[in-house]
Amino acid sequence: HVSRVWNFSAGPAALPQAVLERAQRDMLDWNGSGASVMEQSHRGKRFIAMAAQAEADLRELMQVPADYAVLFLQGGATQHFAQIPMNLAGEGDSADYIVSGHWSAKAASEAKPYVRVNVAASGEADDYLKLPPRDSWQLDPNAAYVHYTPNETIHGVEFHGVPEVGAAPLVADMSSNILSEPLDVGRFGLIYAGAQKNIGPSGLVLMIIRRDLLQRAGRPMARIFRYAEHAAADSMLNTPNTWGWYVAGLTFEWLKAQGGLGAMAERNRAKAELLYRAIDGSGGYYRNPIELSARSRMNVRFTLHDAALDAAFLQESEAAGLLALKGHKALGGMRASLYNAVPPEAVEALVAFMRDFAQRHG
Ligand code: PMP
Repeated sequence: HVSRVWNFSAGPAALPQAVLERAQRDMLDWNGSGASVMEQSHRGKRFIAMAAQAEADLRELMQVPADYAVLFLQGGATQHFAQIPMNLAGEGDSADYIVSGHWSAKAASEAKPYVRVNVAASGEADDYLKLPPRDSWQLDPNAAYVHYTPNETIHGVEFHGVPEVGAAPLVADMSSNILSEPLDVGRFGLIYAGAQKNIGPSGLVLMIIRRDLLQRAGRPMARIFRYAEHAAADSMLNTPNTWGWYVAGLTFEWLKAQGGLGAMAERNRAKAELLYRAIDGSGGYYRNPIELSARSRMNVRFTLHDAALDAAFLQESEAAGLLALKGHKALGGMRASLYNAVPPEAVEALVAFMRDFAQRHG
């Protein structure tokens, strides 16, 4: 008997149980090879075929246009905070950054050694409780690119809809919302995401980049940092994260079996609505501080009316099989992450627990 909890971790986060079970079945003898996927060459025909299928499935799921390359990289999203300006910005160039929370602020600061960072808009003065309105953005028409973070994992704010930014390529850190809904990839120059929330294990970064951007000279750098080199080598410039790539492929297969991103979007909308309704309907017992139009579907922040109850809430929720509800240490309170692999039943269990807790603790 295996005992699984309802897992609300912000990342590394819950993976679909079917994906874990499949990986378990494959562990000792993957695909009739007599070895696990981790124990064989990325140059072997089995791995190459699996890798190509994973890319094909992702392209189908996200309707990735042919003029975009899909890369399976390493280094976490954080490495690419630096590597993106290295590749997309030349000497003296500037880039626009929309700062809407912790992660976009980090992206901007990590870019500074490589590009003149123009913070075109910031929600900091509003404690990131709302998004800087589009008409307040001070975009530079000559920017090498515009960077934003569609979903802020810590602050729990999300852009609903893709902003219009003119001619500069739009670069998006989708670490915590990729694959959560259908997306018009053609609106973007570059999309990147650390895998450990909606894709698979950590140590893998998925990137979708418009091929013309691979032609940019960027700055002098070792080949290993150059996206064009990774694209030319089908993400096998050096040994890729083979395990991560394989699990990502299983997740893409699982998403297709679920009905694709339209079905996930509907499920994610319903999950978030259920939880926000429970918070808003609690008569102030629980509160979410985010402006309604900016609330994240993926990361739902909430506080208890009395912070003295936090410890009891965390202890009792864990005892009830609800894992990882503690908010980020910078903000306190609670956070429930509702990525694709978190089933509606998990949110129903959380909402029932919250009602029961409020009744018992008055
Ligand atoms: N961007 C966002 C939106 C994130 O949520 C995170 C991680 N939680 C990161 C970047 C950093 O990712 P990594 O740890 O993979 O570098």
